[in-house]
Amino acid sequence: MVLIDTHSHIYLPEFEKDASQVFERAEKEGVNKVLMPAIDSSTHLSMIGLEKQNPERFFCMMGLHPCSVKDNFREELKIAREYLDKRHFVAVGEIGLDFYWDKTFTEQQYEAFHTQVEWAIHFDIPIVIHSRNSTDECIKVVAEHQKGKLKGVFHCFSGSVEQARQVIDLGFYLGIGGVVTFKNAGLDKVIESVGLEYVLLETDAPYLAPVPFRGKRNEPSYLRYVVDKLADLKKSSAQEVAVVTTKNAEKLFNLIN
Ligand SMILES: [Zn+2]
Repeated sequence: MVLIDTHSHIYLPEFEKDASQVFERAEKEGVNKVLMPAIDSSTHLSMIGLEKQNPERFFCMMGLHPCSVKDNFREELKIAREYLDKRHFVAVGEIGLDFYWDKTFTEQQYEAFHTQVEWAIHFDIPIVIHSRNSTDECIKVVAEHQKGKLKGVFHCFSGSVEQARQVIDLGFYLGIGGVVTFKNAGLDKVIESVGLEYVLLETDAPYLAPVPFRGKRNEPSYLRYVVDKLADLKKSSAQEVAVVTTKNAEKLFNLIN
């Protein structure tokens, strides 16, 4: 089985002590590629350093996370843009809106989001969207920019069946991770109503570990639990879920050379 973890912050300090074991377990479960979303300039270097160690396996995105949009966001955007001008990244991410913790910088979050969507169109790479408590708002921003060239994924999709439909109609994918294994998360209905050809697998490690590790540190090898849950919901096999979702990730992020 070959799996791609399309969203994993494995460069964070949470993995400092046992990174090699984490990567070994991932390989054992067939997770042979891990895509790393950027956060801000405090983590860009550790992310890029990890990719340098194993460029066949680890792939960097570049962007400014909405939770890192503060007073200095224009400076942060400048840094991210300089990286994008210098080399190839698999996506602009993660970007978007987060209205869960704090709405102080709402206006700035919107500005950063719009700017970075334009970058993705310019560089012809996908966007990876963080849409916590802001699914409708993010759908609206994507719709404004969608003139046929924009592509990407709603990472950690947690919306309704109706919102999933809108995302798919915009040509976007749904990023599905550990939350699908949580009771009462409401994702069951979404998964049952959409085709696997619109689904990408992700862990969002170290966050959102699937059952039976809920509340613990998440890691790429746990993707297997998400696969099994999806197979269950789709009345399909784990192998089929792996084949289809891996193909989706390779296509969106242009991973086949
Ligand atoms: Zn993330």
